Amino acid sequence: MRTVLILGAGFGGLELATRLSGSPADELRVVIIDRNDSFTFGFAKLDILFRDLPPETARVPYSRFTHPRVEFRQEEVTEIDPRARRVRTDQAVYDPDILVVALGADYDPGATPGFVEDGYEYYSIDGARRLRERLAGFDGGAVVLAVLSVPFKCPPAPYEGAMLLHEALTRRGIRNRTHMQFFTPMDAPIPVSAQTSAAIVEALARRGIAYSPGRRVHALDPDRHIAVTRTGEVPYDLFIGIPKHRVPAVVEASGLTEGGTDGWIAVDPHTLETPFPGVYALGDCADAPVPRAGVFAEDAARTVAAGIEAGFGGSAPQEQYRGRGTCYIEFGGGLVGKVEADFLSGPAPVAPFSVPSVELAREKAAAAEVRLHRWFTG
Ligand SMILES: Cc1cc2nc3c(=O)[nH]c(=O)nc-3n(C[C@H](O)[C@H](O)[C@H](O)COP(=O)(O)OP(=O)(O)OC[C@H]3O[C@@H](n4cnc5c(N)ncnc54)[C@H](O)[C@@H]3O)c2cc1C
Repeated sequence: MRTVLILGAGFGGLELATRLSGSPADELRVVIIDRNDSFTFGFAKLDILFRDLPPETARVPYSRFTHPRVEFRQEEVTEIDPRARRVRTDQAVYDPDILVVALGADYDPGATPGFVEDGYEYYSIDGARRLRERLAGFDGGAVVLAVLSVPFKCPPAPYEGAMLLHEALTRRGIRNRTHMQFFTPMDAPIPVSAQTSAAIVEALARRGIAYSPGRRVHALDPDRHIAVTRTGEVPYDLFIGIPKHRVPAVVEASGLTEGGTDGWIAVDPHTLETPFPGVYALGDCADAPVPRAGVFAEDAARTVAAGIEAGFGGSAPQEQYRGRGTCYIEFGGGLVGKVEADFLSGPAPVAPFSVPSVELAREKAAAAEVRLHRWFTG
C-alpha cells in the first residue's frame, strides 16, 4: 500500500484527493489533513461582507468529504521535513510515499506599519465580519482601498470589493458623501488580459472611484488617519487593504521555500514537483507562474494527480501543467464578467474577457455547485 499525504484541504487539496480517490492505481491510500473542520470558498467573504451571509452557512463540513480510500484528519501541521519526507502534526507523525503541500497562503498584516491598528480587510472571514460591522456605522467620508503587496489571492477580488462597496453605499444613500480611491502597486488590474483590465478601469471610473495604478501604500499613520505613499500622504476615514501574503510559518520553517521567489515554494512549473524527491507543492503556496486563485490550484491538482499516478505506474508524467482557469468578476448589480486564462499552454498567456451579464452570474453559481458536488459526497 502506497500513501499520498496531502497537507491542506482547500481548493487544491480537495481536488487532488477527489481525483486520486477515482484513480485506477492499485493499493493507493490518501490521507488529507486540515486544521479546520470545514471548507469555505474564498468568494464567500464578499457574501459575508455585502450580503449578510452568516459564515456558518458558507462552511461545508469535512464530515461530508467521504471518498473511497481517502481519510480526512483534522490536525494541525507543526513540522515538515521535505528531505526525510516526514510530517509532524499535533497528533501524529507521517512518513508518506508522496507528500503534497497545499497549505495555501497566510496574511501578514503587520508587514504594513499601522495597518493592524487602523486598517480593515475582507480577505479573512473574521476580517469580513469586522468590516461589515464598521460599514454599518459608516456615514460617509474618505474611503481608501489599497492592494498592499503582490502577489495576492484572486486578482479581481480587490476590484470586486470596490464595486460592491460602491453599490452598498449607493443603496444606503451615502455614496454622494463618500470619496472612494483605489491604490495598487500594479500597472493594471489583470496584467494578462488588457480587455479585462480596461473593463475594470472603465467600471471604476463610471462609479466615480479614483484609480491610482503604480502607487503603493507602504504605511498608515493611525493617529492622523493618513495612508503614506512614496509620492504623498492620503487622508482617510476608512482604510481597506489587501494585506501582504506569505507562506504559512510551518512552510517557511521547512526549507521548502529555498530557491523560490520572494519566499514561496520553488516548483517545476510543468510538474509542480519541488526539488525534494516525492514532494509536490500546489496552489497559493507554490511559486508557479500563475496568479493565486482557486481555479489555478485546481488545475495544478489535476497535473499532480496525473504525475503521481504515472509515477506509481513506473512511467514519466504525460501531462504538463497548463495554468488554466476561469475567473468570474462581480461588477455589482447582479452582473458578473469572466476571464478565461491559459498561462502555459501556448507561447504566451491568453485570457479573453466576457462582458458582465446575469447569465454569467448564474454560471458562477453553477461552477461553485459543480465543485461542491464533485468534492463533497454526503
Ligand atoms: C475575497 C476572495 C475572493 C476570492 N474569489 C475567488 C474566485 O472567485 N475564484 C477563485 O478561483 N479563487 C478565488 N479566491 C482565491 C482562493 O480562495 C484561493 O486562491 C484558493 O483557496 C487557494 O487554494 P489552495 O488550495 O492553494 O489554498 P486554500 O484553499 O487556502 O487551502 C489551504 C488549506 O490549508 C489549511 N492549513 C493551512 N495551514 C495549516 C496547518 N498548519 N495545519 C493544517 N492545515 C493548515 C487551511 O486551513 C486551508 O484549508 C478568492 C479569495 C478571496 C480572499
